[in-house]
Amino acid sequence: MRLKRPKWYLENVKPLENHPWTDTEKLAVFALRDEEDLPAKRVAKIFGVTKTQVYNVTRLIRRSKNKECFICGNLLTPKEKRKQKGRLVKACDSCKDEKREYKRKRRKRLLKKGLCPYCEKRKVVAGKKGCTLCLSATHRRRMQMGLCGQCGKRPIDKKSEALCTICLGINRKRTSAQRKLNKTKDKVCNKTGKSSKK
Ligand SMILES: [Zn+2]
Ligand SMILES: [Zn+2]
Ligand SMILES: [Zn+2]
Repeated sequence: MRLKRPKWYLENVKPLENHPWTDTEKLAVFALRDEEDLPAKRVAKIFGVTKTQVYNVTRLIRRSKNKECFICGNLLTPKEKRKQKGRLVKACDSCKDEKREYKRKRRKRLLKKGLCPYCEKRKVVAGKKGCTLCLSATHRRRMQMGLCGQCGKRPIDKKSEALCTICLGINRKRTSAQRKLNKTKDKVCNKTGKSSKK
């Protein structure tokens, strides 16, 4: 039997493989599993994902509808709920701490190996904390939000197109230091290695 054409919740759904789920997609999976009672295999096929992913997303949304932490399944306290207002899936404080710690460690481990912590594949640019592609993507995303492309923390300076006041200062210092270094290099003779200054 062929599946009827997707309903409202299947519009805007793109096939995903290693693609972060949007809220619409998560709700769509849940609707198909819970309201329409479709087998997980069928839902997986519609979304182009594995059955496990369908089970995981369904559990996620079920927990969020029950007002539970999406990681451990414990009931959320009113305070925890308030803190993450507007989020489709919420986590309890202890799970959030654990997640943060795990992410921090993984990032550190990858950087130590010289790998980009975002894509976990490409090499980091010397002196930076990501690969060329991920850095430019992050840069772009930050600037779209009106934030400094370098630190992502502060708003863009009025005089600049991409950076905040503090990062502008940092860069200025760095360039002037680099310039000084280059100047001293110029004065050293290539053959003898001695300074040409008398
Ligand atoms: Zn939890
Ligand atoms: Zn990367
Ligand atoms: Zn900045």
